Amino acid sequence: MNLKNLSRKLIAEPGAKVRLSDLDPADTIGVKDEQEALKAVEKNRLKMEELQMLLHAENKRALLIVLQGMDASGKDGTIRHVMNGINPQGCEVTSFKVPSAEELDHDFLWRIHKAVPAKGDIGIFNRSHYEDILVVRVHNLVSKEVWSARPKQINRFERILSENDVKILKFFLHISKNEQKKRLQERMADPAKNWKMSLQDLKERELWKEYMEAYQDALTECGTECAPWFIIPADKKWFRNLAVSQIIIETLESFKMNYPKLNFDPQKIVVK
Ligand code: ADP
Repeated sequence: MNLKNLSRKLIAEPGAKVRLSDLDPADTIGVKDEQEALKAVEKNRLKMEELQMLLHAENKRALLIVLQGMDASGKDGTIRHVMNGINPQGCEVTSFKVPSAEELDHDFLWRIHKAVPAKGDIGIFNRSHYEDILVVRVHNLVSKEVWSARPKQINRFERILSENDVKILKFFLHISKNEQKKRLQERMADPAKNWKMSLQDLKERELWKEYMEAYQDALTECGTECAPWFIIPADKKWFRNLAVSQIIIETLESFKMNYPKLNFDPQKIVVK
């Protein structure tokens, strides 16, 4: 199984128009063997443990992982399956909900900036500042004049972060409307899951087309060299996990990290 091409194939090329209808949410980019994929995710999990230790030891940069997708696209599942190897001490997951009154009294990036990981850490955003050009646009929560200015503001914000040693990876978990239906039905039938569902979740489905248009624009306008979007076909959970874990591992490996050099010879030290 050649996984090296996955990130190249899944990245939204900066500057190119994204057409979601051309991308199959059930695609597995030539990866056929689910069992092999599960093994690769497990291997990546072990690698991630080692790479996180290096990230922490070097303390030179942070990694920020942004997860976006429709309800039931698998944001929580991705965090559970892909990130379960990492040490919770160096990682923080932030879930962005409807903004509080205090948050609404600030600019939309205020609550986001506060949650950006520190050097040496990994931050995971379960939803993010992109909600401010997705749900906010679809529901007209602010005027068009306000939301349409935001993609440029987001690009500038992400550039500042990346110029300050925050590596940003953004994943859009792309599921089909049918797959969402199947998953929502399963959720409804499961007492361990249906307690957190609302009728609003079902209503949002009716706005699928509007959401896809908003996502398409967000992916097109905010896919940049310093903070790329990856469009992950997410109907097959095993492929989604494989793709996300592979891209994170390749990114961490690209840092070519080393443990800091000591300014003394540990061989000559006797611990008394
Ligand atoms: P999740 O679906 O992420 O598991 P919730 O069911 O609590 O968690 O949903 C969070 C809700 O908050 C989503 O409907 C999302 O669209 C909404 N939300 C997040 N950020 C914003 C925002 N900036 N403005 C309005 N709504 C937002």
